Amino acid sequence: MAASDAGTRRATRQLALALASVRAAGTDHPTADQVCRRVRRTLPTVSLGTVYRNLQRLVSDGRIGVAQVGSRVTRYDPTPTPHDHFVCRSCGRIEDLPAGPSAASIRALRRAGHEVTEHATVVYGRCRACRDGS
Ligand SMILES: [Zn+2]
Ligand SMILES: [Zn+2]
Repeated sequence: MAASDAGTRRATRQLALALASVRAAGTDHPTADQVCRRVRRTLPTVSLGTVYRNLQRLVSDGRIGVAQVGSRVTRYDPTPTPHDHFVCRSCGRIEDLPAGPSAASIRALRRAGHEVTEHATVVYGRCRACRDGS
């Protein structure tokens, strides 16, 4: 087999592993570092740069999202469609909110003459695990 075929197969496998690693923990929103550690369980020699490039590609293909939670570190999101988040101030855990802004809020904005194109609400607090531990 030609070397380029092997290279393509490796690249496809790395991309698939990166996607599986983002989706692995349910509604967890991992950083590139966390994804890299998971991918290395299968491919111990993969570099963070490669994982990062794969994540960028998955985002631009719309297969994963980036959680807009105002954190300096990019948190990748297994759910690519727009949704809102709850962030624990103690442990940094990010959970998806079941519902977006209320219809009343959107109506009020429209009445005021604004056009709503997307939303990224972040609710902050302390998660149950952190409350139980204190
Ligand atoms: Zn917490
Ligand atoms: Zn999310």
